[in-house]
Amino acid sequence: MGDPSQLTRSRETRCDSCTRITPSYDIVNYGSIEGGYRHLCSQCFNKEVAEMAGLTGFENAKFEPVGLVDSTGEVHEFHFRTHLFGTGVALDAFELCGGHPAGYKFQIIGDPEEDLLVLLGRLIEKMRRALSTKHLTDGEHGLQIAEQRVVRGRIEWDDASDGRVPLLVIDGREIGWDEFGRMLMSFEGWQFKLSIADKSEEL
Ligand SMILES: [Zn+2]
Repeated sequence: MGDPSQLTRSRETRCDSCTRITPSYDIVNYGSIEGGYRHLCSQCFNKEVAEMAGLTGFENAKFEPVGLVDSTGEVHEFHFRTHLFGTGVALDAFELCGGHPAGYKFQIIGDPEEDLLVLLGRLIEKMRRALSTKHLTDGEHGLQIAEQRVVRGRIEWDDASDGRVPLLVIDGREIGWDEFGRMLMSFEGWQFKLSIADKSEEL
């Protein structure tokens, strides 16, 4: 249990401020290498940042999970996390698999003085837009790039390759680099355009 990697992978951590047992995805390691880290839950972290930045208008909010349906009728359950940083507030939505964020992930950045419920509304609109499209379809030769020939996804770390090549998350599902390469080979000789954007940007 002394292995620090075990610690960061555990599902729950005690907040060093309010002492509540908190899911690990909702914990921020706050501090520095020299001074040491404190494990703070999002609520306590936001409170400290708000005090430091002199933000009096910031309302800490904890949102309950929301279920959204994708274009095939499958329900995706999203959890939310709010993090305040100097000039803005980041609202994240993510699915959980075995207690860890996986699948679809979304983020929106707003003004910390703005009503967080309004920000949540904008994030949910963005999620609905994304869930209404599938970029991959199951064809006779396995998974294929869908008719509109546009793929949006996320670049993630792949343990299986030690991070040498990415693991892609497309339509909320994990796609290996080789598998994606195989899908591209249906378009041998065609051109493509690759555009990379921060997770809070609209693609
Ligand atoms: Zn706390």
